[in-house]
Amino acid sequence: MFPRLTCFGGVGEIGGNKFLLEDEGARVLLDFGTGFSDGSDYFDSTISPRAVNGAGDLFEFGLLPQIPGLYSEKALQNTDLKYVEPEIDAVVLSHFHWDHTGRIGYVDPKIPVYCGETTSLIHEAYGESSSSPLDGHPIRKFRTGDRFRIGSMEFVPVHVDHSIPGAYGFVVHTTEGAMAYTGDFRFHGPAGSMTRDFIEAARLEKPKLLLTEGTRVRRGDSKANMSEGAVLEEAQRMVKGTEAMVFSTFRGNDVDRINTFYEASRTSGRRLVVSMKMAILLERLRADRKLRVPQVGKDVDVYVRRKKSGRLDDSDYFPWERPFLDHGVSASDVRGRQGEVFLHLEAWNFPELVDIKPERGGTYIHSATEAFNEEGEREEGVIRNWVKHVGFRYAQLHASGHAPMGEVEELVEQVGAKKVVPVHTEHPGLFREFRKRGRWSLETPRRGVPMALGA
Ligand SMILES: [Zn+2]
Repeated sequence: MFPRLTCFGGVGEIGGNKFLLEDEGARVLLDFGTGFSDGSDYFDSTISPRAVNGAGDLFEFGLLPQIPGLYSEKALQNTDLKYVEPEIDAVVLSHFHWDHTGRIGYVDPKIPVYCGETTSLIHEAYGESSSSPLDGHPIRKFRTGDRFRIGSMEFVPVHVDHSIPGAYGFVVHTTEGAMAYTGDFRFHGPAGSMTRDFIEAARLEKPKLLLTEGTRVRRGDSKANMSEGAVLEEAQRMVKGTEAMVFSTFRGNDVDRINTFYEASRTSGRRLVVSMKMAILLERLRADRKLRVPQVGKDVDVYVRRKKSGRLDDSDYFPWERPFLDHGVSASDVRGRQGEVFLHLEAWNFPELVDIKPERGGTYIHSATEAFNEEGEREEGVIRNWVKHVGFRYAQLHASGHAPMGEVEELVEQVGAKKVVPVHTEHPGLFREFRKRGRWSLETPRRGVPMALGA
């Protein structure tokens, strides 16, 4: 019966990865995230699960698996699942994206979380500025080159290129041979060679099973595969061609994109102005010797939001925000030097534009995935209205965090596992079309149904 793998999320959906790997002496969760459309039939921006009811509102709709010995006492207090001491040895995390971490907040804090060193720095920055789903858990850090044992299983983490630093895949040695898990990956970022390192490490272990993501495995993926390098070139062209202000919305923990826009700003004589939340992340990530990030104060300035009308002093800001006030620029500072600024502005901060009063003729760069559902389209519509209101040009510019279909096929062929289990994809069945050259079998997972690693 052992070892076996059960997928509780990421099944026929993008995100929501929750994989239970069991061997005779160990039970480990690979990621424990929130699905992008998890519960969207019952919850939306108006109706949310009640925090006070712990896991109860999520159990009601089957949005969390009822695994004994996994959840905290607090999460279970209003549910039929009885609290027992941990029966899960660890959560092993591939990277810090919400669709891989989002449900860890319900997990018993006695259960340790294994994550990359970079991920632990991101966790610390989030914990300081708001909260992190890893809060309260013992953190066990790893880097590529490390190996760690959990019961009868040995984990070998290997870095991969993705749209957040500190992303890993794993080779796991069990009592019945090896399996590999890709996490999320791409080849077209600045660290594409890291994904090749993962392939090589996995290939050498002749895995019996490969658990792979397939976000962009779909028919007619017409979108050109823009690399991060191409985003930089295009951004430089746009910024140089604009005399008024430039502002952009992009994911605040995509360090590749931060570096791209820092470089585009620097080479055109502009200052990149970031939010306080991004500033604390950059500060914490400076402790990571392997990462290159711009330095707050020296390379980038920090946007200081007005917290009340009238005179402000330091005590109006949280302790973690205060060190950034020295490098702070206000709405009126930005207004005074619009042609010299590249402003990072998350959509929820767009009302700052009312204070900045930008002159017409600037450029807005929407640096995110294009909307893929109705809610996303509505949000994008609101963003377009703001951009039109201030008289700016709207430009879409983004490199995906995921490999296109053809490159997922390459990874599958090169790893050479006996069995392939597609997750984090809406089209697991499409992997069947990869089988031209391979001698592997496809096993499309079913939610909550265990799969044997061998045979
Ligand atoms: Zn991801």
